[in-house]
Amino acid sequence: MVLRLHTREGVGSQMIRNRSDVRQYSNQAAYDCAERQRLASDFTSALRDLVDLQNDQIRAVIKHDPDFARFDILLHLAVQKKQETKYALMKHMEAHGCE
Ligand SMILES: [Zn+2]
Repeated sequence: MVLRLHTREGVGSQMIRNRSDVRQYSNQAAYDCAERQRLASDFTSALRDLVDLQNDQIRAVIKHDPDFARFDILLHLAVQKKQETKYALMKHMEAHGCE
């Protein structure tokens, strides 16, 4: 069964899947976890960097820049950074029980 729980502040909603999840959400400290917010910020920054690089490469191709492939190594590094920040976030959420 899936229910929606609205936060006390009315900001957004979260999916509740079972009684274990309900217990997690009852722990407001875990819900407001500062470390989770920091790791989520790292992840979204990495995603933005990746999108920016993809857009830069698209512009280079459109402008007939013969060196458009120079973005490939940067894109490779950006994908690695995205993966690292994603798994750091997921690992913390699983260990700490915050979402
Ligand atoms: Zn946490």
